[in-house]
Amino acid sequence: MKINFLGADQNVTGSKHLIQTNGYNLLLDCGFYQGRRDESNRLNRTLPFEPKEINAVILSHAHLDHCGTLPILVKDGFEGKIYCTPATAEIAKYIMLDAAEIQKQDALYFNKHTENPADQISPIYTEQDVLKVVEHFETIDYFKHTGQWTALNENIRFKFYDAGHILGSAIIFLEIKEGETVKTLAFTGDLGREYSPILPRPEYIQEDVQTLITECTYGDKNHSPITDATGSFKGAIATVIKNKGKIIVPAFSLGRTQDIIYILHKLLDQKLIPAIPIYIDSPLAKNITEIFPKYIKDFNGNFQRDFGSRGQSAFSINNLTYVRTIEESKSLNNKPGPMMIICASGMCEGGRVLHHLKNNIENPQNIILITGYQAEDTLGRKIQDGISPVKIYGKEYKIRAQVKTLHEFSAHADQNDLSSYIAHVKNLQRLFLVHTELPQATVFKELMEKSYPLLPVEIPTMGQSFEV
Ligand SMILES: [Zn+2]
Repeated sequence: MKINFLGADQNVTGSKHLIQTNGYNLLLDCGFYQGRRDESNRLNRTLPFEPKEINAVILSHAHLDHCGTLPILVKDGFEGKIYCTPATAEIAKYIMLDAAEIQKQDALYFNKHTENPADQISPIYTEQDVLKVVEHFETIDYFKHTGQWTALNENIRFKFYDAGHILGSAIIFLEIKEGETVKTLAFTGDLGREYSPILPRPEYIQEDVQTLITECTYGDKNHSPITDATGSFKGAIATVIKNKGKIIVPAFSLGRTQDIIYILHKLLDQKLIPAIPIYIDSPLAKNITEIFPKYIKDFNGNFQRDFGSRGQSAFSINNLTYVRTIEESKSLNNKPGPMMIICASGMCEGGRVLHHLKNNIENPQNIILITGYQAEDTLGRKIQDGISPVKIYGKEYKIRAQVKTLHEFSAHADQNDLSSYIAHVKNLQRLFLVHTELPQATVFKELMEKSYPLLPVEIPTMGQSFEV
């Protein structure tokens, strides 16, 4: 069989891997490339293969950089099934609809400020395109719940292991017959951490894995344990109570927001923090959080112990309000502190977080709590690095609020987690490192070559193919 690496190669977005065997074309992930506008347009509007020739897609999880170009695939003629877990199907729909809305707003804004009609842009895809994708979803639960394989044809079958990265995330394990030979291949998608607030650690694959394609986002470093975040929340809340200030928490609507609600709920139950008003100001986060209680069976033992047996929802707290409309969101500005506002986007690149930052960043009574990785050139990174003044909606603001970073919240395996996961893979013969940048991948490749001198380790480039 041939593996074609067509996205997230020496890069962390646009995940796409095409497996070709016995005339069958199987696509693993169909992710959106996130980066500079012109490059993102070029890579997302046209896929690097003929959509009509793809027989099936298996989707690892619902993050946009893994599912976000499915609407283009379907629009351009794909007719097969898209296999994913039930939670992934539900969440991916909201993630793609949100992306369509952002593209629409983006095009409106861009066209309004462009004088030449020839430069006008259109959204990459629309809400209608997303709704057509949903018709292709075929949901398959984790093997641990069903005990069933899924056959794509007489030669190919697969099962999902739990990847522990976000709700519904799966490791795809494939068994492929070529003549008399049976080949095995696993794709980790994105791999979760050994310990996370809600989800279990990534499940180990029971079978031999000849070829492993693994993510390697943090191949070069280790995270702090997530329990350390408790102290930071306690400290920030004590400060804003004293100051009557506001805590602004830019957070991703999927994963990070639910982790934070869970931790705050637990701290409140243990009476470790006082009940200040908490606002979740992101309609996407509300939609996604509503999906979570349906999948309690997929949460970890701590979660079951803390909330499962009490029949209490971990995601609703008395002092927590989900903000729906823009008017409600704006009205928070006139309400006095203390309060916490958790809002998208996680890197402060758009969304409601911008007006909360604009209104609060110049007040030293307030705290901005950064909870995730801030990519270069984003507003979030500038705030994190204290590069004052910052520009918001074209106007300059001095950073006078306190800025604190919680490094503990990554949903990705770190170097130790990755090494330990690979150590549990049986009879591995070939390793491919994807969803990573070259410096991180190089450090991890050297580590792997030292640990397993006979194992070939590759860091593919975009467009490269390998026979395995
Ligand atoms: Zn992911």
